[in-house]
Amino acid sequence: MKVILLGAPGAGKGTIAKLLSDYDGSVQISTGDILRKSVKEGADLGKKAKAYMDSGDLVPDSLIMDIMENRIQEPDCERGFLLDGFPRTVPQAEALKKLLEKLGITLDYAINLEVPREVILDRLTTRRTCSNSECQAIYNIKSDPPTDDGKCKKCDSPVIQRDDETEEAILNRLEIYNEKTFPLIGFYEKEGLLKNILSLNSKETVEEIKKNLQTGM
Ligand code: AMP
Repeated sequence: MKVILLGAPGAGKGTIAKLLSDYDGSVQISTGDILRKSVKEGADLGKKAKAYMDSGDLVPDSLIMDIMENRIQEPDCERGFLLDGFPRTVPQAEALKKLLEKLGITLDYAINLEVPREVILDRLTTRRTCSNSECQAIYNIKSDPPTDDGKCKKCDSPVIQRDDETEEAILNRLEIYNEKTFPLIGFYEKEGLLKNILSLNSKETVEEIKKNLQTGM
């Protein structure tokens, strides 16, 4: 499948992308994961992006498009891809449209995960992430905690609270989402690609997406 996952921070895009990737081998492309890896490795891209990320601001569109132009042309994307956290602005969506046209790639859908604000806030403040950039498993201290000594159940690395998951950064990210990313829903509606899904439970949402893909939505 060739799908864009839209939704506020904490809507579950990453979790749903991982489950869909297990289902049909489409590759999850998370610009947030790519950027965090770059920061950890001390790469040039990471140095440019870190301050924006820590405060919950968006990284400039030009940096993001440089990443995506290359990533989407890698061979593993031929099987399909799930864009998680990209595009985040209308200029990114327009640039993606041009890029896909140039490459002769057609998107199946832009799936908008609708989640009530109070659920989002609760999820973000209780979310923890594996610090191993190759793993990045997501935990929730209430519903799916890491091991008793705070380690990842998959790779045994320490599980941490991300710098951009402090209360201040979370509120900033939600405000930026409303201002810059929410307009993408209208963008993809006009493109005839939008599918809204009320998403309260990741597994049920994935089942709904799979069913819809099989029946052509
Ligand atoms: P995420 O893990 O998707 O929440 O992304 C974490 C942070 O990385 C965001 O708060 C932004 O600072 C940055 N980021 C990720 N994807 C994008 C994007 N498409 N455009 C701009 N900034 C991004």
